[in-house]
Amino acid sequence: MTAYPELKLHIDGEWIGVGRRRVHRVVNPANGAALGELPLVDAEDLDRALEAAERGFREWKRVSAEERARVLKRAAQLIRERVEEIAQVATLEEGKTLAETRIETQVVANLFEFYAEECRRTYGRVLVRPTGTRSLVVKEPVGPVAAFAPWNFPVGNPGRKLGAPVATGCSVILKPAEEAPASAMAVVRALIDAGVPAGVVQLVFGVPDEVSRHLLASPIIRKLSFTGSTAVGKHLLALAAATVKRTTMELGGHAPVIVFDDADLARTVEMLATSKCRNAGQVCVSPTRFYVQEGIYDRFVAAFTERIRRVNVGDGLLPGSQMGPMANPRRPAAMERLIGDAVAAGARVHTGGERHGKEGFFWQPTVLSEVPLQARIMNEEPFGPVAVITPFATLEQAVEQANRLPYGLAAYAFTESSKRAMLIGDAIEAGMVGINVTVLAAADAPFGGVKESGHGAEDGPEGLEACLVTKTIHQA
Ligand code: NAD
Repeated sequence: MTAYPELKLHIDGEWIGVGRRRVHRVVNPANGAALGELPLVDAEDLDRALEAAERGFREWKRVSAEERARVLKRAAQLIRERVEEIAQVATLEEGKTLAETRIETQVVANLFEFYAEECRRTYGRVLVRPTGTRSLVVKEPVGPVAAFAPWNFPVGNPGRKLGAPVATGCSVILKPAEEAPASAMAVVRALIDAGVPAGVVQLVFGVPDEVSRHLLASPIIRKLSFTGSTAVGKHLLALAAATVKRTTMELGGHAPVIVFDDADLARTVEMLATSKCRNAGQVCVSPTRFYVQEGIYDRFVAAFTERIRRVNVGDGLLPGSQMGPMANPRRPAAMERLIGDAVAAGARVHTGGERHGKEGFFWQPTVLSEVPLQARIMNEEPFGPVAVITPFATLEQAVEQANRLPYGLAAYAFTESSKRAMLIGDAIEAGMVGINVTVLAAADAPFGGVKESGHGAEDGPEGLEACLVTKTIHQA
C-alpha cells in the first residue's frame, strides 16, 4: 500500500510544505479518517506565482515544439511507471474504485502523448497576395493560464488543465480542489521530473474564492480555464470579464438518455448501469434523466433496477468494490435533499434512496420513476448515483424533454435504427452525444458543452486551439 504523501505547493520551481501557513485537513471519504494537512496560499504566495508564471511563459514559448513534445512524452512515461502509486493515492482521497483511478491515470498519459504529437501541428496560413508581399496568419500561445480543477477526476482534471497549455508554450497556475490534492501533485511532479522549467507549471491550494479573485484580477493571467458547477462558472466568467480574458468553461450537465423500443435491452442496461455508478455518479456526463419508449419501459425499469441492486458498494481500495463512496459530505447531503424532495412530490423508489453503511460518505445506487417535472432532481444536476426514469411515446417528445434544460453537455441514445440514430444525433442540444455508447472522452476527441454547460473544448486539436491566439502579419 502506497503511503499518503506530504502535501505541498509548487511555486517558482520550489516545493513548499505547510510551514506557518493555514491548512486544510484532507480526509478519506470511505471512513472520514484524516489523511494529511494541505498548506494554503496567501496573497504573497500568489504574487510570487504570478511573477514566476510571467517569466515561465516568456521562456517556455521560445522553446521548440520538439522540446515541448519531448517533455510531455517523458511525463507520460513517468505517469505510466507510477500508475499504481498514483491510483492508490487518488482512491484514498477521492473514493472511486482502484479500477477507475488506474484507467484515469492511464488516460492522462494518453493525453500527454497525444498533445506531444499534436503540438507540432499548430499551423498558420499564408494568404494570397501580390508578388513581393506577404500576409501571414500565425498562432501563438495565449499566455499564462489560471486553471481551476474540481475533485471528481483528481488525476484527469489536472491532466486536462495542464496538457494543452504546456503543449502550446503557455505557463499555468493550477488550483486543483483542496479535497484531492495529492493526485494533482503527482501529475505536476511528473511534468517537473520530465523537465518543465520553473514557473511553467505551478500548483497552489487555498480558499477558492480568494485564489480565483486574486489570480483573475491580475493582467498577467491571459486565460481562465475552469471545470466545475455552472454557478461557480458564471461567477468566474464575471471576474474574468474585467480584464477580457480568454475562457474555457467545462460546467455542469444533466445528461438525458433516450432508450427506444428497438434498443438491445441487455447491452443497454449493462452499459448504463456501469456508467451511472462510475465515480458514484459524480461525473459531469453521468447519464441521469432516462427517457424510455413505452413499448420497452416496464422491461427496462425491471432489468435496470435489478442490475443496479447488484452493484457492490464499498471502499474503493477493496478488490470487490464496484462503486466507492461519494467524495465529500456535501454529496450524500445533496442526495438526501434531492431524493427527499422527489419522493415528497410522488416519486417511486425502485431501489436505493438512502445512505449506505455507518461510516464515510456512501450513498446507495438509486432508481426513481414517476418523478414530476417540477421536482428539483429533474432540473438540478444531482451529481450522484441516481437515475430518474420517465416513459415517452414519440421521438419528438423525447427530444423536447432532452433539450428542456439550460444544460447541454452530454446526451445518450440507444436504438438499432440508423435513421433514428441520425435524427437524434442532429436534434439533441449537447456538446457530446453517445449513440449506443457511454464513453465520450478520448485524447483526440473534443470534450465540452453548449448552453449553460459551458464553452470551449478540452482534448483533441480543439483543446490546443483554445490555448492559442491568432496574429496576422502583413508585409510589403
Ligand atoms: P462547488 O460548486 O462549490 O465547487 C465546484 C468546484 O469549483 C470545486 O472544485 C471548488 O473548489 C471550485 N470552486 C468553488 N468556488 C470557487 C471559486 N470561487 N473560485 C474557484 N474555484 C471555486 O461545488 P462542490 O460541492 O465542490 O461540487 C458539487 C457541484 O459541482 C456539483 O453539483 C456539480 O454541479 C459541480 N461539479 C461539476 C464538475 C464537472 O466536471 N463539470 C466537477 C465537479 C463538480
